[in-house]
Amino acid sequence: MKNKLKICLIVIFVILILLTVKFYTLSQNEAKKKGNEDEVPVEIQLDYPSVLPNWKNGEYHDYYRTTKMLNDLNKNYPNLVDIFSIGQSVKNRDIWCIRITNEQNRTRKYSCLIDGCIHGNEWESGEACLYLAEYLLINYGYNNTVRNVLNTSEIYIIPILNPDGRENDDRFNENGIDLNRNFDVHFGRILGRSIPLGKILGFIKIRWFGIPRTGFFWTNSGRRPFSEPESQALKDFMNKINNGYFSFYLSCHTATHCIASPSIGVKRSEYEISPNELAVYDNAKNWISKNTEYRASKSKGGYGNGNSMAWCYKEFQIPSFTFELLTPDYDPWFSSGKHDHLIHWMKTGLPVFLYMLVNIENLNDWEIPDIHPPLPKGVPPSPLN
Ligand SMILES: [Zn+2]
Repeated sequence: MKNKLKICLIVIFVILILLTVKFYTLSQNEAKKKGNEDEVPVEIQLDYPSVLPNWKNGEYHDYYRTTKMLNDLNKNYPNLVDIFSIGQSVKNRDIWCIRITNEQNRTRKYSCLIDGCIHGNEWESGEACLYLAEYLLINYGYNNTVRNVLNTSEIYIIPILNPDGRENDDRFNENGIDLNRNFDVHFGRILGRSIPLGKILGFIKIRWFGIPRTGFFWTNSGRRPFSEPESQALKDFMNKINNGYFSFYLSCHTATHCIASPSIGVKRSEYEISPNELAVYDNAKNWISKNTEYRASKSKGGYGNGNSMAWCYKEFQIPSFTFELLTPDYDPWFSSGKHDHLIHWMKTGLPVFLYMLVNIENLNDWEIPDIHPPLPKGVPPSPLN
């Protein structure tokens, strides 16, 4: 009897040990699994397909909807997003900037600035900024390329630089000034089609002067460089982020359907572009014209005219581009134009942004970009008929 009890006790003891071992292994696996969920999955390929924002044609973001969207992104991605105002417009609207980066990684990062709607009637330029922001955020969790970009760079995006113009569907700001002629580079040059006027008698707005569509017209650049609060805010902000790691600037517009860089061969030029820098510019423009439907504008010619791109290059000597979305048959100057095929234009912009972002280190060093960005399915789309 005693022996039987002994055997029974031993069996129970062994079963208990086995159960403990089993339970321990299970909980370890569970912990490992949970840990893996928090960790960055490393096995995903660089070209793992990424998802596109779920936007609908016709749903544009005015100033109010842009503000709401930025706040929602901040709420949904608190560790990747920071929203702040870089200053106010003439009518005291905040000029919002969204910074996208992995905030947990506090090492030195490359930075860049992408802005839109410096001309308020060029809606798609602001939409492209928002689309890029959402694209980066929704893909951070599982796309290696996007995660890498957000881990190593700070992406500053200003979707609406001219909030009053966006609300008025007007190229100019509330004072009637063309903000992209208000920067201190070849300011107010008549041959650059800009005229240093400001408001006549302090209250009459002169947006432009001449005969539309004939070439005989000039837009109002303001009486002096940075006379407008919006251009002054951008200047101050660029100075703030210029810390040696500020790597490129991309100013989005519509609609000459091209990618452009500061002109060379300008009479009495205020800057010189070295052959090496020109090679970087030309390489980037060639990639874009080869891989998207946008064409590369010639570097030579033009007279320069107070635009933010040329000023950024002159001031900080970093690669600075103007990117003109939309069809060339849209007239951004004097007609209100038509806004359509939103999703198509958003998809055409994405490769341009991704090309710049994956090559941010090269651009910082003025080295020829050599990384081909992996593109989501359907990007770039085939050109519209
Ligand atoms: Zn423009």
